[in-house]
Amino acid sequence: MAYDYDLFVIGAGSGGVRAARLAAMTGARVAVAEESRVGGTCVIRGCVPKKLMVYASNFAREFELAKGYGWSGCEDLSFSWPTFLDQKDREIARLSGAYTANLKKAGADLFTTKARFVDPHTLELVGMDKTVTAERILIATGGRPRLPDDVPGAEFGITSDEAFHLPELPKSILIVGGGYIAVEFGCIFHGLGVDVTLAYRGSNLLRGFDEDVRSHVAGELAKRGLKVALACQHERIEKIEGGFRSHLTDSMVVEAEQVMFAVGREPHVKGLGLEAAGVELNGKGAVAVDDFSQTNVPHIFAVGDVTDRVNLTPVAIREGAAFAQTVYYDRPTRFDHADIPTAVFSQPPAGVVGLTEAEARHKLGRVDVYRTTFRAMKTAFAGDDEQTLMKLVVCPHGGKVVGCHIVGPDAPEMIQLAAIAVKAGLTKAQWDATCALHPSAAEELVTMHETYTPAELIAAE
Ligand code: FAD
Ligand code: NDP
Repeated sequence: MAYDYDLFVIGAGSGGVRAARLAAMTGARVAVAEESRVGGTCVIRGCVPKKLMVYASNFAREFELAKGYGWSGCEDLSFSWPTFLDQKDREIARLSGAYTANLKKAGADLFTTKARFVDPHTLELVGMDKTVTAERILIATGGRPRLPDDVPGAEFGITSDEAFHLPELPKSILIVGGGYIAVEFGCIFHGLGVDVTLAYRGSNLLRGFDEDVRSHVAGELAKRGLKVALACQHERIEKIEGGFRSHLTDSMVVEAEQVMFAVGREPHVKGLGLEAAGVELNGKGAVAVDDFSQTNVPHIFAVGDVTDRVNLTPVAIREGAAFAQTVYYDRPTRFDHADIPTAVFSQPPAGVVGLTEAEARHKLGRVDVYRTTFRAMKTAFAGDDEQTLMKLVVCPHGGKVVGCHIVGPDAPEMIQLAAIAVKAGLTKAQWDATCALHPSAAEELVTMHETYTPAELIAAE
């Protein structure tokens, strides 16, 4: 049967755009549907605007530090949220335009509309009174923020999507959650002078990260004056004049101009008509795929957040690329999900790669840990008490570095490079054979010689 396209990609985010471009560059007839704006979560309402907000909010602290270096007049500076939003939106429009241009340059057709399955090879382009057929279909529809369904009044809350477009900066905000988005936005708003309360249901923020990273980040946030309420569940929200009153565990009440939920994201499968195509979901409501991102329907593939594997932009891109390599370049490629570096753009930020200490102990039995905390030169000079944490988790048999964890300025930049060594399986001896670069914070990574044993392990031995 002749199809309209060789490949139809649903969703022009990180994964979809990469796959579509690579496939189109082979001469395949490719089309993409995007119901919102080209660029997807990362460019429009994720990594990029978030990082710009991190930069914007960090200036307040930089101005404080500048005083320690002899600068004055910083007290008179002020921040304009509307000006920032305007600049940010201009930059996002520029990037989205560049993505669109690159797609077209590669030869792909773009339909700015929602697509949904009519049958396994046919898609309806909603609102265009049009259907198209394709030999293969790639689902790259990403994820979307979740609101809790058991908190009366949750509909009053915003999510990260709206946080990028608040008409005014609130005076106060309650942020619910303890993961990436809660911690990052907590720091952003705090840096911009908003009175922030973070309410998290667990015992410490950033579950899943190394315990030292979690406690170090929590300690630094507390030093900066961010209020964190732990073991705290939301019971209900009511609207009051000028904002909202949240009732939390143990009769705790927080009144704030805004309530923001950062309680996770869900795969975006609603309204896709997957049943019409026979595509199966897994237990987490994500499109179920194998190592080659192939669904149970052999000509339908899925990449990125909609598959809920590791929900990060570079991962969606690499999964999209691996799909294109496999199908259009005749080079079967599985993306290896091990040792993916990741950063939490908190202030200070955390950058990690590989196993946490607990994971390594569980997997390897015994591990050697190298760990240091110190005050970085730049902030220490200005009289600031911020501490940097660096930690290496090492397999005692052979000395391979299996985990690297950093909290401190530039941690994301450092961890990207450290990830090369971890991914390459280099040993602690090889790290140590690398000459230090002085003066830098990163030099600590190649000069840690004493192993560290946590107090509770010493007590247990
Ligand atoms: P997306 O980028 O979400 O793209 C999916 C696209 O599909 C969307 O444009 C959507 O409109 C479209 N779509 C959905 N359904 C349809 C349909 N039926 N028809 C047509 N179009 C459809 N990751 C990092 O690595 N670093 C970070 O710093 C980082 N920060 C983040 C900050 C925030 C606030 C958020 C929310 C996420 C962040 N992420 C970060 C995660 C990252 O954005 C995602 O992992 C990544 O964008 C996933 O790419 P994707 O291609 O799977 O989906
Ligand atoms: P996360 O999964 O990181 O965190 C969700 C948080 O919400 C957790 O603390 C979780 O608690 C809590 N939670 C879940 N359900 C409820 C509930 N019903 N009531 C109260 N709390 C709840 O999700 P995010 O929304 O922060 O981010 C989504 C994903 O986007 C991230 O996992 C990451 O993959 C990606 N991302 C990456 C970034 C980066 O690379 N810098 C930045 C932002 C997002 P518990 O831990 O107890 O389950």
